[in-house]
Amino acid sequence: MSLPLSHPALLAADPELASLVGSEELLQSETLRLIPSENYVSAAVLEASGTVLQNKYSEGYAGRRYYEGQQVIDQVETLAINRAKAVFGAEHANVQPYSGSPANLAVYLAFARPGDTVMGMSLPMGGHLTHGWGVSATGAWFRGVQYGVRQDTGAIDFDQVRQLARKERPKLIFCGGTAVPRTIDFAAFAEIAREVDAVLVADIAHIAGLIAGGVHPSPVPYADVISTTTHKTLRGPRGAMLMSRETHAKALDKAVFPGLQGGPHNQTTAAIAVALHEAAQPAFRDYARAVVANAKALAEELLARGFDLVSGGTDNHLILMDLTPKEVPGKVAAKALDQAGIVVNYNTVPYDPRKPFDPSGIRIGTPSLTSRGLSTGHMPAVADWIDRGVTAAKGGDEGALIKIRAEVSELMAAYPAPGLPTG
Ligand SMILES: *Cc1c(COP(=O)(O)O)cnc(C)c1O
Repeated sequence: MSLPLSHPALLAADPELASLVGSEELLQSETLRLIPSENYVSAAVLEASGTVLQNKYSEGYAGRRYYEGQQVIDQVETLAINRAKAVFGAEHANVQPYSGSPANLAVYLAFARPGDTVMGMSLPMGGHLTHGWGVSATGAWFRGVQYGVRQDTGAIDFDQVRQLARKERPKLIFCGGTAVPRTIDFAAFAEIAREVDAVLVADIAHIAGLIAGGVHPSPVPYADVISTTTHKTLRGPRGAMLMSRETHAKALDKAVFPGLQGGPHNQTTAAIAVALHEAAQPAFRDYARAVVANAKALAEELLARGFDLVSGGTDNHLILMDLTPKEVPGKVAAKALDQAGIVVNYNTVPYDPRKPFDPSGIRIGTPSLTSRGLSTGHMPAVADWIDRGVTAAKGGDEGALIKIRAEVSELMAAYPAPGLPTG
């Protein structure tokens, strides 16, 4: 496959970089991208994020800026905020955080002081680094305590969450994660947070698009603060948002600016506004439903092929596989699948006896393939490729991987990705 040359100005000014962009376009076009935190943004989102809004400094908030010339930028940011509030039903939204990690850091700045205890899901159980894990600033500057999932069910252990919260009295409780294949019970977390007087932060980075599309319950009635990236299932540009009730609006806004950041990335704000406009359309509900239907169908097909799925399946867009029964380490499988044109990431599984840099599992998801229009009828083929790829990884069978790559690339050619040149 080859793609037509695009980006003429870039090509003329910097052929070396233009060629790299072209290579990335080709890679994204011909591979089956199963990383659950990734997606394909629309051509409209892509265009908005490459506009001259990028040239403007706008420290502050609409109507209260530290630089003049904000006649247009104020409207762009207000539009993004209003759309975020409408899509999620939130009272307050801040669209300035540069990405999910700084958004979470702003929450610490707003509600905690260094040394305070914070509680989150443990990283190897599916939590995020920024939920108080040791190697992150949030674990270095705060005292992180971690809950996990039950070994028998793979579901969040609410007895443990409650006990730990009562014992440690955390200032912040984070729920949500990066490798959680099941529905987050925001009400259960809220009850525990109220009991210990903690601020409940729902980090919906992975599932924001599913919530916007109505296929995952909303944290809005339950969480004090909602943190999300905009570039995962929500299918927007790389960026983030914080949402809350009006009572926390000032604290959050102050924490983002001037607390943590300088000028907002206005081109990203614009692209977030476009993504939220898309997420408000009926077609996005269909998309969210299809993401989940595809993940459930893929999970069934993998189970039928003897794969061990954490928690036995999925409620959302994500599947976490323990490859121990297949006798292939996660990293070996991930590298082999990459050779076969199937892009996944190796991942720890709960109670993993192996090290995080060489764990037992791989993590996959359906947001990207659904954006290309693949449906449940394609999932047997996807499961077959994964099965054959993992078997080839175990046997070191490069020929088999090359054959899978050709088959994958042929299917992908029939389902062009949004935002990419078609050739
Ligand atoms: C992706 C993610 C983040 C961090 O987002 P970045 O934009 O990569 O900094 C935070 N929390 C959760 C749960 C995530 O999945």
